[in-house]
Order: sequence, then structure tokens, then C-alpha cells
Amino acid sequence: MSTVRGRFAPTPSGPLHFGSLIAALGSYLHSKSRGGQWFVRIDDLDNDRTIPGIDSEILKTLETFGLHWDGEVLYQSSRIAAYNEAIERLSEKDLTYRCSCSRKEIGNQPYPGTCRKRLSNDKNNPSIRILTNNKTIEFHDLKQGHFRQNIEAEIGDFVIKRADGYIAYHLATVVDDQWQKITEVVRGADLLDSTPRQIYIQKLLGFPQPEFLHLPVATDKNGQKLNKSTGALRIDQNPYCPSQLICKALNFLGQNTPENLQHKSVDKCIQWGLDHWIINNKK
Ligand SMILES: [Zn+2]
Repeated sequence: MSTVRGRFAPTPSGPLHFGSLIAALGSYLHSKSRGGQWFVRIDDLDNDRTIPGIDSEILKTLETFGLHWDGEVLYQSSRIAAYNEAIERLSEKDLTYRCSCSRKEIGNQPYPGTCRKRLSNDKNNPSIRILTNNKTIEFHDLKQGHFRQNIEAEIGDFVIKRADGYIAYHLATVVDDQWQKITEVVRGADLLDSTPRQIYIQKLLGFPQPEFLHLPVATDKNGQKLNKSTGALRIDQNPYCPSQLICKALNFLGQNTPENLQHKSVDKCIQWGLDHWIINNKK
């Protein structure tokens, strides 16, 4: 049996739009075309962004589009103990420190490590940062090719637990990818820049490194990434029917769908995608 395991991890901050369909479809096809499994994980860590009930809408939409997941849906809000345990492990190795810098103090620059040597007991709720080093992280992305980043110089020590108590995205992602035995991370290229930080945490925690495939990101006519906050059209209320949208997404992903496919059923479109999935490096 194939050990390929992929996942789609939407934030329940709005309904799925065409950009999220691309990420869902790409990750689904990449796993399933090789007999693997595909999991859905709801990134509901940030209560301020989570819209109640959107998770079930997202799941319903995935089913409408023929994207059926394996096993139970994992909610990150149920995993807080595991994240804190990972932070504890890092802290025991002296790889974390408390930071009480304000946003204003830091600005948009890489974090200069101000609190590395500062005992930040001056505030009740400091954030927790992970100590980075001067080693460059390199990896090969199946679509984007070779990527390297010196985290310390380009990002600085980054936050793994926020001052408001929320677990940061990178830490939660790494802990759950390990727990769900994810072998391949397929997502939008807007997250390419996050990957070295996740690889860094994986290394520190002794976790295996999955394969990475960062898909091209859909943009609107102004070149802005489609996202929920800018009101991208939800795919369950789109003038195009699901089969047409799947064909559009397939073509966007560099698959050359036959003209008549969009008139077929959703399941036929997904099956065509499974039979023809190829990572087209030219596009
Ligand atoms: Zn600080």
C-alpha cells in the first residue's frame, strides 16, 4: 500500500474561493494519483479569524467538488497540548526565549534578537520566539525548484507562541504534519517563504522532512492574490458550475483538459485529473 499522505489545511475564516480550490485540488491529485491518502485539517487556532460554521461549509464544498478526504477531519484547536509540549521540548534545549518587544519596536525588519539576552519579565504576556542560527536552509521544491533562505538574516528569530496566547502557524503546522505522518506538503507558492522556518522546526524536533510542492497562486485582474479578506468569489456561489471550475483549476495547474470535459460530471473531471496529473515545470 502506498504510504503517500497529503493534506489540505484551510483556515475557517471564509468560504472556499478559486484560489483555495487550486490548493485543495492540487494536493488531492498529487496524493491520490499515486494511490495515497488525503487529509483535511482545519486551521482554527485564531479565534479572531475563525467564523463559526464556516468549517462545515468548507467541507460541504469539498464534497460538492468531488474532493473526498480520508479519515477524520483534524481541528487544530483540539491540539493545543501537543503544540505546548513541542514548545516545551524546544525550551528545554534552550532554543526559545520570551520576547516583550512591541510591534512598533520591531517594525517590518527581520527581528534583530533584541530579547535574546534580555530577561523579559517586564510584561505578563510575552511572546515566545525560537532561536535561529546563521546556517542557510535549502530545499528542493517539486515545482519552484531550489530554494534557500538564511532565516536569521532574512526573518530573524520568529514567534512560535504569540503574546495573546495563540500558537503560531509554523509551529502548529510542523507538529501536525508529523502527527498525521504527512509525506508531502502541497500548497500555494505564497507559502514558499514559510517553508524554511518549518523545515528548521522539523530539524530541531527531529521530525522527518516531507516533500514540498508549491503551486502557482491565482490572482485577480490587479495581480493581487485571491483571498478571503479581499472578498474573492466563493466557489459554491460561482456562476460557473463545479465541473467548469474544476477544469479551470486543472488548466491553471498546467493540465491540458479536453474541451468537452467541463460538460461532464464532477467525478469524471476529478478522475481525468487523477489519470493525467503531471507537475508541469515549465509553467
Ligand atoms: Zn523582543
